[in-house]
Amino acid sequence: MMRVVEAFYSLQGEGTLVGVPSVFIRLAGCPFRCRWCDTAYAWDYSAGEELDSAGIVERIAQWPGKFVVLTGGEPLVGEDLAVRPGLVELTCRLKALGKHITIETAGTLFVPDLACDLISISPKLGNSTSPAIHQAGRCDAEVLNRLIAAYPYQLKFVIDSPWDIEEVQEVLGQLGPVDPSRVLLMPQAHTRDELIAKSPMVAELCRKTGFRFCDRLHIFLWSEERGR
Ligand code: SF4
Repeated sequence: MMRVVEAFYSLQGEGTLVGVPSVFIRLAGCPFRCRWCDTAYAWDYSAGEELDSAGIVERIAQWPGKFVVLTGGEPLVGEDLAVRPGLVELTCRLKALGKHITIETAGTLFVPDLACDLISISPKLGNSTSPAIHQAGRCDAEVLNRLIAAYPYQLKFVIDSPWDIEEVQEVLGQLGPVDPSRVLLMPQAHTRDELIAKSPMVAELCRKTGFRFCDRLHIFLWSEERGR
């Protein structure tokens, strides 16, 4: 059983599949407390409604298309900080139905045996966390290396200021070979105005480094609206 905070059909807003119509399943619970988190309503592990994987599959089936995004919260990590119970089974069920599965994660825990077409890892930089969480293993190179070796991946970094790029390079320096076209920099923004204001700074960093600019289409289209 898993708790689902919301299920909705929208366009993928970020990453290499930006713009692709997808069903989003937002699982409840996240052990982190990122300062700029836009889904704080999903932090609580008791939020939402409890569904088994058959129930989640049924919910997904009401929408067309093959693209499914498992997000959170932090979908990989359960309340006890171990692998979220039922997650592997859910991905296998979805795969058997021919779905394309993206999993959004902060990348703090390696989970084997997922049926995952794209692991979308957003390692948390110092700009993201309160000091209390800063030491909580937010960026574990060994875990990141295992995830990117096991699954097709993208690495998305939230950029709040030009100086964040040094930390991005530091994280990447601890990893094995990473395809730069799979490294995406995205502006830290909650609103359309913030997104527009920060995009040129991030675009310039991409020009300098060769990393990819990551749009945030959902913010551009719907700003802070939930479930879109
Ligand atoms: S890891 Fe994701 S869901 Fe959790 S607090 Fe950070 S941004 Fe929010």
